[in-house]
Amino acid sequence: MSYQDDEEGVDYGGHVGSFPKEFGYGGYDGEHDITITSTSDQKPRILLMGLRRSGKSSIQKVVFHKMSPNETLFLESTNKIVKDDINNSSFVQFQIWDFPGQIDFFDPTFDSDMIFGGCGALVFVIDAQETGIQNLDEFIDVDKDVSCYDEKENLDEDIVDEMKERPREAENTDSDSEEEIKPTPATLPEARKCIEQLRQFFLQKKNEGSPLDALDDYIEALHKLNLTVTKAYKVNPKIIFEVFIHKVDGLGDDCKMETQRDIHQRANDELNDAGYDQIHLSLHLTSIYDHSIFEAFSKVVQKLIPQLPALENLLNILNTNSAIEKSFLFDVVSKIYIATDSTPVDMQSYELCCDMIDVVIDVSWIYGIKEDQDAAAFDDQSSSLIKLNNGTVLYLREVNKFLALVCILREDNFDHKGIIDYNFLCFREAIQQVFELRNKLQHNSTTNSVGSPMVNGKNSLGDGHLS
Ligand code: GDP
Repeated sequence: MSYQDDEEGVDYGGHVGSFPKEFGYGGYDGEHDITITSTSDQKPRILLMGLRRSGKSSIQKVVFHKMSPNETLFLESTNKIVKDDINNSSFVQFQIWDFPGQIDFFDPTFDSDMIFGGCGALVFVIDAQETGIQNLDEFIDVDKDVSCYDEKENLDEDIVDEMKERPREAENTDSDSEEEIKPTPATLPEARKCIEQLRQFFLQKKNEGSPLDALDDYIEALHKLNLTVTKAYKVNPKIIFEVFIHKVDGLGDDCKMETQRDIHQRANDELNDAGYDQIHLSLHLTSIYDHSIFEAFSKVVQKLIPQLPALENLLNILNTNSAIEKSFLFDVVSKIYIATDSTPVDMQSYELCCDMIDVVIDVSWIYGIKEDQDAAAFDDQSSSLIKLNNGTVLYLREVNKFLALVCILREDNFDHKGIIDYNFLCFREAIQQVFELRNKLQHNSTTNSVGSPMVNGKNSLGDGHLS
């Protein structure tokens, strides 16, 4: 088995998304920057896995390369394993492994120690539009779908007959109401049972080279999830497992919940059956067409930051002393929030803050940079204040080259801007101390571990988490 490096990199030939393509992280170059870079061995590695066309490349391009969601329609698919290193982020080292589906984890050339050894989090992407759950009425109704079940020799004939009869029964009822044709809760478990029985049949069909339908991809994705997770866990039990139930933009609220419930149950059942009940899977409903993908990634990245409690505590103190209602510490390029205070996050506030970052960067890039100057759109002068018509204020301040603080507060409380600014300076200094301490510890550990052997693809420091 082999992989190839994605040579397309981040060059999309012009401005993509709301950021100029030139806007990205550079190296550490200023004394005002907080050094959050570290040697590559110590950076957290996130693997993004899943079947082909599940949306991995799109996620990576939208979140880390500012591609607009619509442009992902033109992303080319590949039949090889593609490894793409995201090196422009100083905070997260990110690798995407695009699995075409036919990869065999038990192939002796598959170096799972190397792949999973230094990995902090493994994100497995499942295409929610392929689950077939949203098409269950169609699944029962369409003759061509039902007729293909006849090919299954060992299928429970009672169930197939019942599935065939049900739409006809519905058609024969006096009422024309659509409700009666749609599956009732009583039909869902039956359908699920039937799907389960069809699993082997579809897999067998696939091996024979028959065309696949959506359910096959769903079953195969769950099977691959199980294989991947158990294999990774054996190599590195510290890995955090995240499942992105992706492309949920096409699903209604009920269907989203049903899909999530179904995947949760099936995935955990399979793990329990295999004796891996200690493995915890976190599920997220995501789409590149809204902020859900950024929010989900924020949660993944936060789990890899050991300083998170300290950062949250600092944000809480800042909020209390400045009458701030909500505050986020953002990684500016990706719009991932690496920490927030302990009040619950509501999606609308998060989206507002993301939009604010977009506006600040766009305006800075267009009007804030003098010609012939190699300046960045986001620097230590970056700050912004937006008053909304509902009496709320959004306030953004630069924390360092990579991070920005975005706060939401009542307009009345913004009268004490001087106090807020003073508290912000204290906050920024405290953040600096947190990372300086980390860097000192890292430096000491590196000095002590010079020459230490690599174990399972990681050195004595590396468990894949930020240290
Ligand atoms: P990969 O093979 O796993 O890397 O999948 P791609 O990133 O190439 O995506 C396959 C297709 O899914 C593309 O046409 C994308 O535009 C589409 N796609 C990706 N994410 C989403 C999403 O959140 N919603 C919808 N509706 N389509 C998506």
